[in-house]
Amino acid sequence: MQLPLHLPGSIELSVVIPVYNEEAGLDALIDRVTKASHAIFGERYELILINDGSKDGSWNAICRHADHDPRIVAINLSRNHGHQLALTAGLNHVRGELIFVLDADLQDPPELLGPMLERVREGYDVVYGQRVKRHGETAFKRGTAALFYRTLASMVDTHIPRDTGDFRLMTRRVVDQLNAMPERYRFIRGLVSYIGFNQTAFPYERDARFAGETNYPLRKMIALAVDAITSFSVVPLRFASHLGMLFGLAGLASLVWVVWAWMQGGAVQGWASLAALTLILGSVQLLVLGVFGEYLGRMYMEGKARPLFIISEVRRHPIAANEEPEAASVSESKVSEGIRVAG
Ligand code: UDP
Ligand code: MG
Repeated sequence: MQLPLHLPGSIELSVVIPVYNEEAGLDALIDRVTKASHAIFGERYELILINDGSKDGSWNAICRHADHDPRIVAINLSRNHGHQLALTAGLNHVRGELIFVLDADLQDPPELLGPMLERVREGYDVVYGQRVKRHGETAFKRGTAALFYRTLASMVDTHIPRDTGDFRLMTRRVVDQLNAMPERYRFIRGLVSYIGFNQTAFPYERDARFAGETNYPLRKMIALAVDAITSFSVVPLRFASHLGMLFGLAGLASLVWVVWAWMQGGAVQGWASLAALTLILGSVQLLVLGVFGEYLGRMYMEGKARPLFIISEVRRHPIAANEEPEAASVSESKVSEGIRVAG
C-alpha cells in the first residue's frame, strides 16, 4: 500500500508490536495493520515494531519497511529480552494518544481496531481482547492456559481477566502509568488491570498463527505464570505456615496412634514408615524453601535496578526523524538520529 511521504502534525494512534522470529509473516502484518490504521486515522498514526533479538531476517524486513514508510518506527533491542520487556520497550516510545498492542503473528486481527475504538469512545480507557475461541492452538496449550488463569485468579486480589493476552487498545494515561512502573518481572496484562480506570472486555476469536511457530514453549509459559503469581500475590509464602500446621496435626494424630498401639501391647513397626516420613518432610521443607527462594531471587534482581531493556538502534524514515517532535531526553535525541543507546 503506497502512502504519501509526509508526516502528520500529531499522532493519534501508536500501534506497538513486539517481533521475535516473525520474518515470514511481517509483510502481511504490516500491510494489514497499515490498512486498518489508515482507514481510521489517515496518516495520524505510527507503527512501532520492536525486534526482540530475532535470529531470522525479521530486523532486515522491518528496516526495509521503515525506509519506505515514515509512519514506521523500528526498534532493535540489543538481544532477546522476552516478549514482555520487548513490549515495554515499545510502550516507552509511543507518541500517540491511543495505544494499540498486538502480536506479530496476526493471531489478533488488526481489523478489530475500529470496533475496539468505539468502546474507547464510549469512555473506556482499556479495551482488552478476551478470547472466546482459539483457532490453531493445541488442546494442551488451551488446557494449560485455562488452568493458569484460574489458579492466578484464586491467588490474587487484583481482578486479572481470564483468557486475556496483551491484545488491547489503551488510552495514553494508562500507558503513562505503566511506563512509570519500574518493576522488572512484568506481567503487563496484570499491571494494566492493577492500574484501573474504566476497563472492558472485547470478546474475539483468536486466529491461528499466520506463519512460523509459537515462541512460547511450555518453559516460557511456566516462567510467565511464575512471574504473574509472584508479582501479584504473596499467597505462596503462606503455604509454609499452612503446610506446617497440616503436618503438625498429622504428627499429633500419629503420636496418639502410637501411644494407643503401645497400650494395646504391640509397638508400631516401622523402618519403612519412618523412612517415608523423613523423605516427605524433607521434600516439603525444600519445596517451601524453593518458594521463598523464588521471591528472594526476584527481590535481589529488582534490587540491582538494571535497565529493563537495551536498545541497539532506532530507525525511522529520514522525514520522520527530521520532523521528530522535541526530543524527550538525551537518549531519545540520539535515538532520533537513528543511532543507538540504552533504554
Ligand atoms: N515475542 C517476543 N519475544 C520473545 C517471544 C515472543 O517479542 O522472546 C513476540 C512474538 O513475536 C509475538 C508475541 O511476542 O509477536 C507473542 O508470541 P507468540 O505468538 O509466540 O506467543 P503465543 O501467541 O503462542 O502465546
Ligand atoms: Mg501468537
